[in-house]
Amino acid sequence: MTFTDFACYGRTMLTMNYTYRLYPDAQQQSLMKEWLETCRRLYNYALRELKDWLASRKCLADKCSLEKEYIIPADAPFPSYQSQQDALPKAKKKYPHLTSVYSQVLQTTIRRLHDTWENFQKREFGFPRFKKFGQFKSFVFPQFKTNPVTGCHLRLPKIGDVRINLHRPIPDGFVLKQVRVLSKARGTEWYAVVTLQLNVSIPDTSPHGRMIGIDLGLERFLTTSDNASVERPKFLKSKHRKLKLLQRRASRKQKRSNNWEKSQIKVAKFHHNIANARKDFHYKTAHQLCDQAQTIFAEDLNTVGLNRGMLRKDCIDASWGQFLSLTQWVCWKRGAFFQRVNPNGTSQTCPQCLATVKKDLSVRLHVCPECKYETHRDHAAAEMVLIRGYEIVGRDSAELKEPDGSRSVGGESLDKRRKSRNVSS
Ligand SMILES: [Zn+2]
Repeated sequence: MTFTDFACYGRTMLTMNYTYRLYPDAQQQSLMKEWLETCRRLYNYALRELKDWLASRKCLADKCSLEKEYIIPADAPFPSYQSQQDALPKAKKKYPHLTSVYSQVLQTTIRRLHDTWENFQKREFGFPRFKKFGQFKSFVFPQFKTNPVTGCHLRLPKIGDVRINLHRPIPDGFVLKQVRVLSKARGTEWYAVVTLQLNVSIPDTSPHGRMIGIDLGLERFLTTSDNASVERPKFLKSKHRKLKLLQRRASRKQKRSNNWEKSQIKVAKFHHNIANARKDFHYKTAHQLCDQAQTIFAEDLNTVGLNRGMLRKDCIDASWGQFLSLTQWVCWKRGAFFQRVNPNGTSQTCPQCLATVKKDLSVRLHVCPECKYETHRDHAAAEMVLIRGYEIVGRDSAELKEPDGSRSVGGESLDKRRKSRNVSS
């Protein structure tokens, strides 16, 4: 099963990403692999320039460092996106193989480096890294003059018509903005992530209907403020066992041999399989939540912090971050309201009397010494999330009616879904 869609949404522009499987012929495949390698080298070259410039600034002017000697003049400007992009035509004369790649693809490769760099400056983590051979897995065509999808082919500049499986049609009215060509399973599978845009006014959803809070945990995947819970899927555990087996087999093969390559492909394909299964589970769970309520509150988790901490492996497996953003998207699609709330202390506060009840992760039961309230700790946390949500939207808004105005996404009418939904407020 291959499916992906997520979206950025706003008042005037709806953006969706659809993923389609590509079936390039042998010639197209080797060309696309060549492009990936050229883009990787360009990316690394541009990153080297950026790093050298930064290192040259680190050296103090009055102290000449012996280890750090950079022949970059003090007034040399920062290698910005614009300057690096402007340097491309010159570089093409020096390295003619650059010309074999579509020029806009090269530009977006540099853009990608600077996006990573700018994100690093904003968040202070995620410094761009050099990409090793095979680590560069996608390139982008940022614009098309005419619709590149014709029948069962995708027309890519300089690559030609690539066979595509349009397992779901591009919805009416959407304009194709860009195409990201993605290589998976070590270049044996190819995908096109197609960005579609619809210029339309979309009314924002407001809090309404039944409201619930959810808590994500390691013991149970999810617990709602109604004390309903979703267990962690067992299939992921058994899949992980199989993955370990495949990895062990792969490690026994002689490196770079034919059999090694084959077993590496098997491992990569299985990774992909796990990711899809997990995403499928996340989608189903998000839809279940929307069946139960029209307003959903969740903790604004610092997933990065969690992933870095001791619980790293378990948290990645649970991949709460992906689940929350998918839930946000599903909520929006189904006309439900989604809001993240401050997570601080939700598991340490009694939802009945708001007293602080300290407990570490091993304590699975919430027992309040003040009001004697007793329940599962995740349930108590979910109830606290709901209380925080009420604080944000105001408890009165529970009386709010359904948002008006109908809209249609992906050809499916939301009104139809809304009717079939169990509305209880
Ligand atoms: Zn209490």
